[in-house]
Amino acid sequence: MATVQRGIGIGGGTVSGPVARMARPPVPPAPRTVPADQLPAEVDAVRAAFTDVAEALQRRADAASGPAAEVLFAQVMMVADPALADRAEALVRGGDDGPRAIDAAFGEFRSALAAAGGLFAERVADLDDLRDRAVAVLLGLPMPGLPEPGHPHVLVAADLAPADTALLDPASVIALVTEQGGPTGHTAILARGLGIPAVVGCAGAEALTDGRLVLVDADAGTVEADPTPEAVTEAAERAARRRRRAAELTGPGRTADGHPVKLLVNLGAPHELSAAAAADSEGVGLFRTEFLFLERTEAPSVAEQTDAYARVFAAFAGRRVVVRTLDAGADKPLPFATATDEQNPALGVRGLRTATRDPELLEDQLHALALAADGASAEVWVMAPMVSLPGEAATFADRVRAHGLATAGAMVEVPAAALRAGELAEACDFLSIGTNDLSQYAFAADRTLASLAGLLDPWQPALLDLVQLTAAAGTRGGRPVGVCGEAAADPAMALVLTGLGVTSLSAAPAALPEVRAALAAHTLADCQALAEAARTAPDASTARARVADALPEARLP
Ligand code: PEP
Ligand code: MG
Repeated sequence: MATVQRGIGIGGGTVSGPVARMARPPVPPAPRTVPADQLPAEVDAVRAAFTDVAEALQRRADAASGPAAEVLFAQVMMVADPALADRAEALVRGGDDGPRAIDAAFGEFRSALAAAGGLFAERVADLDDLRDRAVAVLLGLPMPGLPEPGHPHVLVAADLAPADTALLDPASVIALVTEQGGPTGHTAILARGLGIPAVVGCAGAEALTDGRLVLVDADAGTVEADPTPEAVTEAAERAARRRRRAAELTGPGRTADGHPVKLLVNLGAPHELSAAAAADSEGVGLFRTEFLFLERTEAPSVAEQTDAYARVFAAFAGRRVVVRTLDAGADKPLPFATATDEQNPALGVRGLRTATRDPELLEDQLHALALAADGASAEVWVMAPMVSLPGEAATFADRVRAHGLATAGAMVEVPAAALRAGELAEACDFLSIGTNDLSQYAFAADRTLASLAGLLDPWQPALLDLVQLTAAAGTRGGRPVGVCGEAAADPAMALVLTGLGVTSLSAAPAALPEVRAALAAHTLADCQALAEAARTAPDASTARARVADALPEARLP
C-alpha cells in the first residue's frame, strides 16, 4: 500500500524513481584487541579497505568531468598513498584494531595537512571523508557519500554537506529527499540551483530502502512510496504539460498588461555559470561570491578574484550582474573571517559587519570587482549583505563608488532595514530583499531548522508586510527593489511580490520559465489584488490558500 511522507517541497514538479540512500558515516565499534595470529588478516583487511575506496573513487572519477572529476582524482591520490596504508599497518602491528588504525593514520595525516596551512589545509575535509569510507568498507557497511547505483535515482539523505554538492550529478539524481533542512537552507538552494525537485525536512525519509519506488511531489511537499502506475503516469503527463506551457514563453518578464518585472538568475557556484548564462534572463540578480572564499584558510588574492569575476561578467556580456560582496558568518562560516567565540553567530559579525572588523576583505573585493568590470560590457551593480542601518548603506555606497563602480545597493534582510527602507534607499541606488534571512530575523527562527519551517514560510503575512514596506519605499524614492531570496522562485509568490511593488525577481534559472508564465497570465491589478489578499490573511496557510483559490488551475503553469 502507498505510504506518504510530508516535508517542504522545493522547486516544484513531480518525478518518480527508485531510492538510493546516502549512508551516514560509520560509528566505529568499541576497541578490541587483535590476537597475534589474526594480525596478518587484520593488516590485509585494512589494506584492502584503502584499495577498495581508491578503486570506487577512481571509477567515479573516470565517469565524471570538470571540477567533480578533479575533486575525485585528488581523493584517489590521497587514499592510494602507500604511506597511509604503511602507517595504518604499523598501527595494527602496534596493537590497534583495524578501524582504530585507519582513524589514527588519517588523524596524523590530517594534523600534518592542517599544520601546512594554505591549500593543503583546505583538503582536511577530504581526508575525513576518505577515513569514513575506509572504516565503512572495513566494517562491511555501505560507503558514506553520494551513492552511485548506476541509474537515475531519488537521492535520500539526512542532509547534504556543501562538499557533496560539487559531485551531485543532475543527470542521475532526478529528485532529492532529505530528513533535515528548511525551505531556505543550503540544500534547498542547491536543489533549486540544479533544477532538481526536492522535499526537505521530511521526517522518516531515511527509513526508505534502496530501490523502493517513490513519487516525489515538490509542489505538495510529499514523498509517496510504492505509488500506483496510474499515479506515476499522471505525474509524468502533468510535468510534461507544465514544461511545454512554460517553454512557450520567452523574453523579459511582463504581466499580461505589460508591466515589466525583470527576471534574473541567482548564481552561487562556478559550475552553475554556463546554465545560468544560457537561461533566458536579463542578467544575474544575486551573484553569491562566497564560493570563492569557502573551504579556504585565507582570502583569495585580488588577481584570483578578478579572474573569477571577469568570467562571470563575460558570460553575462550586455546584461546586468548584481554582485553581492562577501556574506561570511552564520550559515556561511569562513575560518579567516568568522569569529569562533560567538554564542549566536547568526546575530554576530556576519555579512557587511565583517567588513567593519576587517576592512581589507571588502577593499580587496571591490578592487577586484572594479578591475574585472573595467572594459566588461556587463552592467555591474554591487550590493552589501546584512545591512541594518541607513548609515551602513551610505558608507558602503561611498566605498563602492570610490572604486569607480557606479551602482551600489543594500540587501534588506534585517527587519530594521525594511522598517527604515526609505532612508536606506536614499543612501544607495537600489535595494534587494533577501527573504531567506528576512524570514529568519523577522521570526527569530534559525533558517536551517526543519522544525521551524512554519515560521520560515514566505507566505507569512508579517513577512509580506516587510516586503511591502520596502517596495513602497523604493517606489517613493524612485529606486528599484528586487527580491532574490528563495521566495522569488515560487510562481504564485512571484505574483504576490509583483503586486507588492517589487520590480525584479531573481531565482534559480530552472524556476524562471514558470515564473514568467505566471506573470504573463495576470495583470498588475490581478497581482495587487492577490498581494492584498495574501498580506491581510491571518496566517501563512490562509495566505497561500487565498492565492491558490484565486488562481484557476489553467492559469498557472
Ligand atoms: C537571503 O537571505 O534571502 C539571500 C538571498 O541570501 P542568502 O540566502 O545567501 O543568505
Ligand atoms: Mg541572506
